[in-house]
Amino acid sequence: MTDIEILVIEDEPDLRAGLQHNLELEGYTVKTAADGREGLRKAREGESSLVLLDLMLPEMPGLEVLEHLREAGHETPIIIISAKGQDRDKVQGLELGADDYLTKPFGLSELLARIRAVLRRTKSGAKASARKQASVSGVMKFPGLTVDWRRFTVTRDDTELQLSRYEAEILRMLIEHRGEVVSRQDLLRKVWGYVHLPTTRTVDNHIARLRKKLESDVENPIHVVTVHGLGYRFESELLEDQ
Ligand code: CA
Repeated sequence: MTDIEILVIEDEPDLRAGLQHNLELEGYTVKTAADGREGLRKAREGESSLVLLDLMLPEMPGLEVLEHLREAGHETPIIIISAKGQDRDKVQGLELGADDYLTKPFGLSELLARIRAVLRRTKSGAKASARKQASVSGVMKFPGLTVDWRRFTVTRDDTELQLSRYEAEILRMLIEHRGEVVSRQDLLRKVWGYVHLPTTRTVDNHIARLRKKLESDVENPIHVVTVHGLGYRFESELLEDQ
């Protein structure tokens, strides 16, 4: 058993019971709420380590629950679970401060992976930001790749290429968290800040462009790898840091 409590806000009884049962089997402590108002009240108690939030809920819609929590400064990680698969809902949910988004129907293993990733990320968040300033600056050398942060260039096979602003910011975030998965949602939030309301496809397009500069073989990337269903990870080992 862990002492990690998950609050499930879901009005559909079968799904709510199923989630509770499966999460308890995984060793989580589970609290449930069947409507938005009850969910908000329980989330406000602040005891849960993570909230699974449905969007279409009686009494108060999920996005409103989210908005109330974030406006009041509650930073409990929230994963939206909703049948509404439109990008607009996702972006709105993420803009309001959700940490991830799962579209129903989803598999249990995917849900558990997302929960672990969000918990890991939010727990390591403080540590990661302390590491930030020290670790990504100057000239960094990786196998077959040199990144110059003063000039925002990458050098591969003796060719120096200029990074665009977005490419540089994506690469910075991936290298800051090297060895860890960085989700598209994290990239959207940190790199774009939602000013232009981009979709996760925007992230993928920029990753593709970045890979053309970093990778000798874009079909088999060795630096920026895709972690299926979760995001991207910078894999290369840092050889030298000047
Ligand atoms: Ca619902």
